[in-house]
Amino acid sequence: MDFSLSSEEQLFRDSVRSFLAEKVQPIWTRIDEEALIPTSLIREMGEQGLFAIAVPEEYGGQGGGFLLTALAAEEIGYHDPSMALAVFTLLNNAWPYILYLYGQDEAREEILPRVGRGEAFFGIASTEPRGGSDVGGLQTRAVKVDGGYRVEGEKIYISGVREVMDQLDWGGWLLLARTGRPEDRHRGITALALLGKRQGAKTGGIEYSILDTIGRHGISTGILRLNGVEVGEAYRVGEENRGFYVAMEGFNLARILVAAANIGSARWALERMVEYSRERELFGRPIASFQGVSFPIAELAMELEAARLLVYRAAWLADRIYKDKEPGLRPRDLGKYSAMAKLKAVQVNKAMYDQLMQVYGALSYTKEAQVFRGMLASLSYYVGAEGAQNIMRYIIASSIIGREYTK
Ligand SMILES: Cc1cc2nc3c(=O)[nH]c(=O)nc-3n(C[C@H](O)[C@H](O)[C@H](O)COP(=O)(O)OP(=O)(O)OC[C@H]3O[C@@H](n4cnc5c(N)ncnc54)[C@H](O)[C@@H]3O)c2cc1C
Repeated sequence: MDFSLSSEEQLFRDSVRSFLAEKVQPIWTRIDEEALIPTSLIREMGEQGLFAIAVPEEYGGQGGGFLLTALAAEEIGYHDPSMALAVFTLLNNAWPYILYLYGQDEAREEILPRVGRGEAFFGIASTEPRGGSDVGGLQTRAVKVDGGYRVEGEKIYISGVREVMDQLDWGGWLLLARTGRPEDRHRGITALALLGKRQGAKTGGIEYSILDTIGRHGISTGILRLNGVEVGEAYRVGEENRGFYVAMEGFNLARILVAAANIGSARWALERMVEYSRERELFGRPIASFQGVSFPIAELAMELEAARLLVYRAAWLADRIYKDKEPGLRPRDLGKYSAMAKLKAVQVNKAMYDQLMQVYGALSYTKEAQVFRGMLASLSYYVGAEGAQNIMRYIIASSIIGREYTK
């Protein structure tokens, strides 16, 4: 057992840190305030090697792995606690990797190198208005036509709608659509690489709108209405009616990165709390001298360390499965660890901001303190992004008790 990072991993983290300290730290509040990640920054992040990190170089990625991706997501969460850049980055790592694993050459060649260079975004479009947790019940339909599929339906709470449709020249989502009968549930769903835009031109049949969210404004959350959108056969990802399983692998990977971003943001909040508890003097001494202040900090530091270990453990396992292809390990072995990492990291991040607000007192209620941006971002994962917390509990319970008992 070895708890240290290799020299390659340390070097990577150091270079990501200095890039973010220079390019992101000075502007993260502006990104949130103006609700826009500058296109030039997305390009620079691509040049820095922050997208498609685990995708092999011959497919346009960085040839790294998921531990490296998690280290990057953690640093991004720390340097931009409003999470916009973290969300953009984690989606642009997990879902392109799924396209690399299960996509066909035409779609991979078109999309992956552009993602790697910071010219395109590739996320996930699964959730529908009738509920996100019940993926097996989704209703968007993909009907077979000559040369591909015609898609009808509606997706909601989709990250990256403005970035794809209004900002970048290229991008889209791994779309889940029903190709089987409704009663087939999760066995009747196919994954398609839906491009919302290519070469600056919008795909016909897509109407979109942006939701007015309460936080992480730098990346949009929106609605996609699909009115007979044509998707070519070459853009099917994985076998027909196997899309649920394809997507579950993507969620396992994305949740590790969500968890990594949350521990990064929590580290930022913990540092602010430590700093302030030393500086703020009341009753003639620093507030850190009151155990009512220092003990919660101690508890949260321990919780953060526990969450970090879960995140690194899950990322390490992802690399054993996908990169090293270790015999005896299957993609579904990752589910429990990735759910544990997400459940815990989101709990810790939310608790950290809750405590930070109390330690800052009234200062936290001003925009000057900037604490609210991290607090509101942490809530996005608490309420559902990348899977509801109860669904994480369900995955863990099913894995340790047995699906036959928990379904
Ligand atoms: C900021 C943001 C960005 C998002 N981005 C994307 C995106 O890019 N792509 C995408 O596809 N989706 C996205 N989502 C949607 C996200 O995947 C869903 O929020 C999530 O799947 C939960 O779905 P829901 O919100 O419809 O809640 P519901 O599924 O309606 O659940 C409601 C409540 O019921 C509980 N619940 C549901 N089922 C069970 C069960 N079996 N046992 C116990 N409790 C249960 C849930 O825990 C929750 O508390 C985003 C969400 C947010 C907030």
